[in-house]
Amino acid sequence: MLNLPAAPTPPKPQQQHSLWPAVLASPRAGLAAAVAPRRAQDSSLVRSFAADSAAVAQSMQARGVRLLALDFDQTLVSVHTRGMWDAGAADLCGHVRPLFRALLPEVLRQGIVVAVVTFSPQTDLIRDCLARTVGDGAELIIVRGDDGSWQRTAAAAGPDGELGKQAHIASACDEVQRLSGRRPSGPEVVLVDDDEDNIGAARANGHGVWHLRDGSVAELRGQLGGVAALRPEMT
Ligand SMILES: [Mg+2]
Repeated sequence: MLNLPAAPTPPKPQQQHSLWPAVLASPRAGLAAAVAPRRAQDSSLVRSFAADSAAVAQSMQARGVRLLALDFDQTLVSVHTRGMWDAGAADLCGHVRPLFRALLPEVLRQGIVVAVVTFSPQTDLIRDCLARTVGDGAELIIVRGDDGSWQRTAAAAGPDGELGKQAHIASACDEVQRLSGRRPSGPEVVLVDDDEDNIGAARANGHGVWHLRDGSVAELRGQLGGVAALRPEMT
């Protein structure tokens, strides 16, 4: 019997959402229109940070940030799913840090593209979680996880040879270029991550970094431009 090699699994088709044409025509207005106000559904904790999160997002836009790359486990959510979360999206959504529940819609309203960059293969679960967190605008968030849906290209490693999220970020930048005709680079990309190696690799590639550590609210306040309203329960 012939022992033929298995046919390679074709990559999943890239998502192309219907909101993108309006966003491409006018990135800032398009993204802003796509993200409807959801204040009525927000908790009082999230609402208490609304003005500050808008100011932080405006500051990012003014500093030329075009892509906010967000780690998922222990960053966007306060738990680690180990890529094996089986309790459903609603339960996982309960672990989204209120800080990002407040900040993400404002970042999108500023025309900054958001990408989730993660080693988790559970990207459908993550998209479901984003939809429950952000609403309609979540469909514009690029997700790069270890799900076989995108091709890894050469990405520079950090000083210790650590590749971190650089391949994920490079693919997200390719997607922004494909959609908008211009590739973000260097400090136009900011990585938010709890992992020191991922942060080091991003910094070595000239990206902005925001190292999120539990219990470091004072440090976070500094990184967010002296935001006073950031309370420990937001993170
Ligand atoms: Mg993490």
